[in-house]
Amino acid sequence: MVIYKFGGASVRSAGSIENAARIVSSCNEDLIVVVSAFGKTTNALEDILDGWFRQDDKRFRMLDDCRAYHTDILNELFGGSKVPVYNEVLSIFEELLNKIRSTHSGNFDYEYDQFVSAGEKLSTKIVSSYFNSINVANRWVDSASWLITNETYREASVKWEQSGDEARKRFADDSCRIFVTQGFTGGTKNGHATTLGREGSDYTAAILANLLEASKVIVWKDVPGILTADPKLFSGYEMLPELSYKDAIELSFFGAKVIHPKTVKPLQNKNIPLYVKSFENPDVPGTVIHETKGPGLIKPVYIIKKDQLLVSLMPKDHSFVVEGALSEIFASFFRNRIKVNLIQNSAVNISLCIDNPGSLVFELMEQLKPDFRVLYNDRLDLVTVRYYNDEAVERMTRGRSILLEQRTRNTIRFVLK
Ligand code: ASP
Ligand code: MG
Repeated sequence: MVIYKFGGASVRSAGSIENAARIVSSCNEDLIVVVSAFGKTTNALEDILDGWFRQDDKRFRMLDDCRAYHTDILNELFGGSKVPVYNEVLSIFEELLNKIRSTHSGNFDYEYDQFVSAGEKLSTKIVSSYFNSINVANRWVDSASWLITNETYREASVKWEQSGDEARKRFADDSCRIFVTQGFTGGTKNGHATTLGREGSDYTAAILANLLEASKVIVWKDVPGILTADPKLFSGYEMLPELSYKDAIELSFFGAKVIHPKTVKPLQNKNIPLYVKSFENPDVPGTVIHETKGPGLIKPVYIIKKDQLLVSLMPKDHSFVVEGALSEIFASFFRNRIKVNLIQNSAVNISLCIDNPGSLVFELMEQLKPDFRVLYNDRLDLVTVRYYNDEAVERMTRGRSILLEQRTRNTIRFVLK
């Protein structure tokens, strides 16, 4: 069994879905195709959901646009004929419309998962029926039927044993060679939709590979493989033909966007290789993440996280920033779902470099003010160089002021203004 994952960019239009069909039909092995929502649909659904919670009337227009985007793709794929999936798509939008007309439960995370999971339901229903219409015979399998999770909405944890049992039931069928299922979404044992965290479809592919002991996973991307830097931010990057599991985990954790950070572990545990390949040039080998012989990666790899905040906290009562204060601080960040990208502490101060989620973080700083003096700098870059050398460091820091620096044997990190 092989797992393919197509992300939003690889299924953003009728043309790209036709391209995905060509890639799928040239696979000679049993295959499960994991698909994300089309293009930027997840962002659109998030905006509509926000509109619902804020009672903003614009939500109805936005939902119309999202429906038109999907029906346009349907019309292009099926030449305007009203195939059965057309009605399925319309009824999903009907349900969404009824939802945003009604009163919500007040539980944002729960409603988020029920609402936003529609993106993947729409995309997979359309992809599956298009594939069948061109004789790429396949079966649609609802991710909620096999990816069983707990009830931590928006960041659900997988119940591995139950999911394994269900997955083996749904995907073991000699009469079917290709299956299509949703990325990013699963379900609780009571049948409520859950999601695994933004960009979670890669993780779905890895979970499935682990559960079914697949021979490999291929993630089809709009880049030729894993690069030594983000081409949007950096010139003079190179492609990495291979990467160890460990480096892949570290790089995605530090903020390299090519794969979701949780993706690698389930594959590493079963020694399943992960290929990152270009859907535009499927014959180019791309990058393979596997158990490397020898050191594997040795070139400097650059990861830049933009729009960072550096928050410094100093206890007001002159106590030290040790275990007690640290656990209090981290509990607040955890409760508010703010990801901490880097920390540095001294006796009387702790600095935390975090993504800037807007008002949320300022509310959190207010909460901390009774106990801590709070200072912050915004609009910073967090730069990580793995396998750094002097030249790489000079290149990243030239002409910039360094607010914080952290260095281990293999990795150097800077917070830069
Ligand atoms: N559609 C989801 C998102 O955009 C999951 C994914 O694309 O991986 O976050
Ligand atoms: Mg996506």
